[in-house]
Amino acid sequence: MNRNKVLVSACLLGERVRYDGSSRPVSHPVLEQWKKEERLVSVCPEMLGGLLVPRLAAEIQPDFDGQDIFHEAGKVVTRQGHNVSQYFVRGARKTLELSKQADIAIAILKANSPSCGNEQIYSGEFSKALRNGQGVTAAALTEAGIKVFNEHQLDQAQAYLSTLEQKAPVNNMSCE
Ligand code: SF4
Repeated sequence: MNRNKVLVSACLLGERVRYDGSSRPVSHPVLEQWKKEERLVSVCPEMLGGLLVPRLAAEIQPDFDGQDIFHEAGKVVTRQGHNVSQYFVRGARKTLELSKQADIAIAILKANSPSCGNEQIYSGEFSKALRNGQGVTAAALTEAGIKVFNEHQLDQAQAYLSTLEQKAPVNNMSCE
């Protein structure tokens, strides 16, 4: 049986793709179940956008959020002041493309990241403070109608996916 696919931040699946070469693996029964069901599609938007590991930490400038950046207002900058917006926008566009090709139903993205954060992002002042807003890729997916959850919302995400599948069952049965 075909099942809806779930996009997941690569660093949550243990891939060492974060700016400092680390990962943030998550162990959760919902993720394990989706893995067995072959639903998971791994992505690191920043690497898809052309950034490497390691790379300089970057934040979205104060007063802007991921949606602004995706629509080319404001900047994503490193602590040293380099404008890296183009990589973030390219990563978001490519992730969107991949999501359409893979028929992604929902996404589980790493909380608070300037690319992946679904509810909060860092302040833009490199102070570790958070503020409300989405990262660039999370905003692009949300705008395209793909519901984005973070790693602390897996039960909620599973419930949402079940509801989606009850409304529109996915199967590969053909008419006779
Ligand atoms: S861009 Fe997303 S997937 Fe890549 S390291 Fe950052 S939080 Fe993880």
